[in-house]
Amino acid sequence: FSFFDTVTYTPPDAIFELTKTYNADLAARKVNLGQGTYKDENGNPWILPAVRAAKEKIKESNHEYLPILGLPSFRVLATELVFGKDSAVIQEKRVASCQALSGTGALHVAGTMLMRAFGRDRTVYITNPSWSNHRQVFESVGFGVKEFNYSLSGGVDMQSFLQSLNEAAPKSIFVFHASAHNPSGWDPSPEQWKQIGSIVKERQLFPIFDAAYLGLTSGDYDRDAFAIRYFAEEIGLEIAVCLSFAKSMGLYGERIGLCAFVSRTRTLATAVESTLAQLIRFEISNPPAFGARIVAAVLEDVDIDAEWRRNLATMSSRIAEMRLQLYQELTELGTPGDWKRLMEQKGMFCILGLTPDQVQHLQNEYHIYMAESSRISIPGLNRSNVRYVAECIHQTVK
Ligand code: PLP
Repeated sequence: FSFFDTVTYTPPDAIFELTKTYNADLAARKVNLGQGTYKDENGNPWILPAVRAAKEKIKESNHEYLPILGLPSFRVLATELVFGKDSAVIQEKRVASCQALSGTGALHVAGTMLMRAFGRDRTVYITNPSWSNHRQVFESVGFGVKEFNYSLSGGVDMQSFLQSLNEAAPKSIFVFHASAHNPSGWDPSPEQWKQIGSIVKERQLFPIFDAAYLGLTSGDYDRDAFAIRYFAEEIGLEIAVCLSFAKSMGLYGERIGLCAFVSRTRTLATAVESTLAQLIRFEISNPPAFGARIVAAVLEDVDIDAEWRRNLATMSSRIAEMRLQLYQELTELGTPGDWKRLMEQKGMFCILGLTPDQVQHLQNEYHIYMAESSRISIPGLNRSNVRYVAECIHQTVK
């Protein structure tokens, strides 16, 4: 007899497992294109100069508990960053927010909050394909999760997208990727977001914006926040935003994010925020301080903030350069495949369109690691390995 007889083995998360296998690979020449983390030109993790400067400023802070909702200055500054300082939602105090354990924690809090507000009979719709964690985050809080077709090989499948919005029961929840859709790399254009917004409004659907790549997508934070601001400001919808600073500030391990709800009135926002405080209190009591202090120190200092904006441009332009280089190498080699997508897709990722066997071959023969779907994390490329990667892809598919 065991109390754990009913517990069956759960296979490890594929992408974390891939990193583990990569780390254990003793080959002199190996390339990790799996996990979506930014690497510098030498393949090393990059501590952003803005983050270095911020850490210098906060090094004397103590180790007391933060308030339940998180570091107040962090919440104010992060909210202003997303919605714009002069936005109506901020001026009218209609945003309820809490600090969260990065983007994943923010999605979890948002799900828990919506379960409280809406109850179990609502469905959460996620894109197909989507980030591998979406389904289980929302199922874990008790929602049923359905997928809708999101992408075609050449872009967003608007027809399916709009049809799903039209066919979903009113008040259903839709998880949108605010920018740099993971894994497809295809985003709706501003015009398409407007079409989506008008159906969301008309059919009374609730949008959650998963915002893990703001600033890193185009290099310009405001531009990447277009969809969020359009929904909240222009057409006045109630929305949730789940913000991560993992990618945009390189704070992967600090687990710093924000969960924000825009509500119709200030009174409702106060009620939502009080509920968020209760949810945080019974789950983690209060959030960790270090990441919040770093983000606040970046955003509250004009010079460090300006440095950070330059750092975002550095990261996004290095990603763009690597997209171009891989495209040029594959085209020069005459490798069969549709490589234009390398240039057209947005964000950190590109799905190469290889078969699982080809992906496995690249790993076994050439020590090049990528997700089974052939999604590659572009920042794993640099000037010293891009030619090698192109040649190995060529050898594998030709
Ligand atoms: N959402 C998407 C689409 C992601 O790709 C990621 C990270 O890969 C996240 C959310 C959350 O990441 P984190 O919890 O590290 O902020």
